[in-house]
Amino acid sequence: MSAQQQTVELWQVKAACRGPQAAVFFPPPHFERKADRIERERRAKAICAECDSRLECLEYALEIREPHGIWGGLNETERRTLSEA
Ligand code: SF4
Repeated sequence: MSAQQQTVELWQVKAACRGPQAAVFFPPPHFERKADRIERERRAKAICAECDSRLECLEYALEIREPHGIWGGLNETERRTLSEA
């Protein structure tokens, strides 16, 4: 196992989104109204704000260009904007 793989495992183990609350980090399989998306993302970002793995999580999502969900406190549009800055 490489050093990078070990790092990924460590931050994932410490992730505050582990468990049932993980559902708010990704859109549901059915249509989601804008107001519902805003509220879901607000709840996910509040969990990220308390997470010890936030920086590593955001770096990982940017590195793999994760196209969906909340990672490191940012949604996909916010991550794209950060990558283009
Ligand atoms: S920053 Fe947010 S998405 Fe990333 S591991 Fe922590 S709680 Fe999960």
